[in-house]
Amino acid sequence: MIINRELCDICGTCVAVCPSDAIIVSEFFVTINNDKCTECLKCLKVCPIKAIEEG
Ligand code: SF4
Ligand code: SF4
Repeated sequence: MIINRELCDICGTCVAVCPSDAIIVSEFFVTINNDKCTECLKCLKVCPIKAIEEG
């Protein structure tokens, strides 16, 4: 999964829904740890501005 940092406003919504704790939020950006990600696509579906893409 890939987060478009140009679009992401660090709202934290995706972090809360990830069942694998694969999404890491910091003060300046949000990152997905693809080693932990199971590609359930929950984050992609909840992102209000569609900043997450498969990949
Ligand atoms: S696809 Fe699922 S497991 Fe992967 S980062 Fe998104 S919510 Fe977490
Ligand atoms: S839900 Fe979307 S906008 Fe919010 S932190 Fe996640 S990727 Fe960024």
